[in-house]
Amino acid sequence: MRVFSKSQKLDHVLYDVRGPVVDEAARMEENGMKILKLNIGNPAPFGFTAPEEVIFDMRDAIAKSQGYSDSRGIFAARKAIMQYAQIKKIPNVTIKDVFTGNGASELIQLSMHALLNNGDEILIPSPDYPLWTACANLAGGKAVHYICDEQSDWYPDLADMESKITDRTKALVIINPNNPTGALYPREVLEKIVDIARRHELIIFSDEIYDRLVMDGGEHISIASLAPDLFCVTFSGLSKSHMVCGFRVGWMILSGNKAIARDYIEGVNMLSNMRLCSNVPGQSIIQTALGGYQSVNEYIVPGGRIYEQREYVYKALNDIPGISAVKPKAAFYIFPKIDVKKFGITDDTRFALDFLREKRVLLVPGSGFNWHQPDHFRVVYLPRIPELKEAVDKMGQFLEHYHQ
Ligand code: PLP
Repeated sequence: MRVFSKSQKLDHVLYDVRGPVVDEAARMEENGMKILKLNIGNPAPFGFTAPEEVIFDMRDAIAKSQGYSDSRGIFAARKAIMQYAQIKKIPNVTIKDVFTGNGASELIQLSMHALLNNGDEILIPSPDYPLWTACANLAGGKAVHYICDEQSDWYPDLADMESKITDRTKALVIINPNNPTGALYPREVLEKIVDIARRHELIIFSDEIYDRLVMDGGEHISIASLAPDLFCVTFSGLSKSHMVCGFRVGWMILSGNKAIARDYIEGVNMLSNMRLCSNVPGQSIIQTALGGYQSVNEYIVPGGRIYEQREYVYKALNDIPGISAVKPKAAFYIFPKIDVKKFGITDDTRFALDFLREKRVLLVPGSGFNWHQPDHFRVVYLPRIPELKEAVDKMGQFLEHYHQ
C-alpha cells in the first residue's frame, strides 16, 4: 500500500527553501561548489545582527522561561503588541486579541485552519509569499489568486480582485509591504480594498511583517486601521525588523468588528491552546524589541545597508538588456521582469536552474510565488554590494548568450 501525505496538495510551495532549484544548489554544494545564495530572506547570514539589548534580554529571560505560558503569550509581550497596535491605530484590540506565535508562519497556518472548510475560497495575491497559498490549500480551502499589477507599482488590481469573488469567498489576504515585490500600498489603495471587503463581507488578513522596513520616508498604514467595522487579522513579528528569524517570534492581532467573528475567534483560541504556547524565551524579547530606539532604522536610510543595496541592485538589474524592475519601497526583495521573447523563455524554473548551473547563483523563479507567467524571478538583496555586483554581473554575462 502506498501512503499519500496531505502535503501532496502542496505544489510549488516555498521554492525559496525547497524544490528543484534549491535541491540542485544543495547537490552542487555537496560536490564542493560555492553557491551565492540570493534565495531566502534571512538577514543573519549576511552580517545583520540583532540589537544587543535584545540578545541580552533573551539571555536574562531563559532561566525564568521554563514553563508553558498562557497559550496566547506572556502578559508583557502581549501588552507591548497591544500598544504597538494602538500606535498603528488598529481599533478595538484588547490583550485577549493578541496571539504570539513561533514566527508569523505558525499563526498564518493556524488562522487558515481555523477559517477554511473544504471548498471555501480565499483571495491571495499573485505574486504572493507562498506560505499563504500553501496554508489555505492545506486547510482544505481554495486559494484564488488576484493579480498585482507591475504597471501600477505592483499594487493589487482591484478589478481583478473583485471579479474573483464568489459566494464561497470568505476572506482576502494582502501582504503589505510585499514579499516578493517590495511594494508599499498607499492609503487610497487600502481604502479601496476595505471597500471591496465591506461590500462582500470578507475578513481581511494582512501580513505586515515588513512594516518597519519602509524606505524613502514612506508611511506604512495598517489596513485594519481603516476598517473598524470589519473583522481584520494583522500579522507581524521580529524576524525581519530585528534580524532574528531564527528566534521564531511572531504575532497576530484580531481587531475591528469581532462580534461577527465570534465562532472564528473561538476556533483560533482552540487551535492556539492545542499548540500550548509559543517559545517563551522568544516572547520575552518582544517588549524590549518594540520599545525605544529602533536600530533597524539605520539600515533603511541613505548610507544604510538595506537602502544602499537596494539602490545598487535596482540600477544594476535595470542596466541589463532584457531585464526591467520596479523599484522596491520596502523589505529587501526585488522582483525583476525578464523579456521572455528575447530569450525564448517558456519555463522559469529551467531559467533559474540553467543560471544556477552555469553561474552558481541561486535565485527563486517567479512561479515559486504563484506568479503564473515564466517572466519573473526574485532577488534577495541582503548581501553586501560586492556580492550583489558579482551576482548581477553574472546575470548580465549569462543573458548575453542565453536562449531557452
Ligand atoms: N510573511 C512574509 C510576507 C514573509 O516574507 C515571511 C518570511 O519570509 C513570513 C511571513 C514568515 O515570518 P516568520 O519568520 O515570522 O515566520
